[in-house]
Amino acid sequence: MGDRPYLRVDVPKFIREGAASCASKSVDPELFFPIEFEDTTGKITSSYKDLQEAKKICSACPLSLKCLEYAITSYDLGVWGGTTDQQRTNIRRKSTKIKLRIHLKR
Ligand code: SF4
Repeated sequence: MGDRPYLRVDVPKFIREGAASCASKSVDPELFFPIEFEDTTGKITSSYKDLQEAKKICSACPLSLKCLEYAITSYDLGVWGGTTDQQRTNIRRKSTKIKLRIHLKR
C-alpha cells in the first residue's frame, strides 16, 4: 500500500497497515467523503458520490468494528465503519442519553 497516495487525511495506522477494504486499488477513495457543491439557489451543500457503495464496501471490511470505534471518538468526517458522520453523531447522542438514564437510576 505504500505506493498508493491516500486521499484520506491522517489515515489511522490500522487502515494503512491492515486489510482495509477501502485501501484496495480498485476502490475509489472519494466514495467515502462528501463532496461540496453549489445548488441552483447558490447554497453550498454536500452529498456523497455513492453512499450506498461506500457502506457496502465497509460492510465487507474485516476492520469495520475497529474503524467504527475509531470514528466514534475521532469525530472525522466521512464514511467510517459503514456510518456517516451524522449517524455517528446520533450514536454518540443516544449513548449519552443511555448513560445519563443509568446514572439517574442509581
Ligand atoms: S470499515 Fe470502511 S472506512 Fe473503515 S477501514 Fe473498512 S472499508 Fe475503510
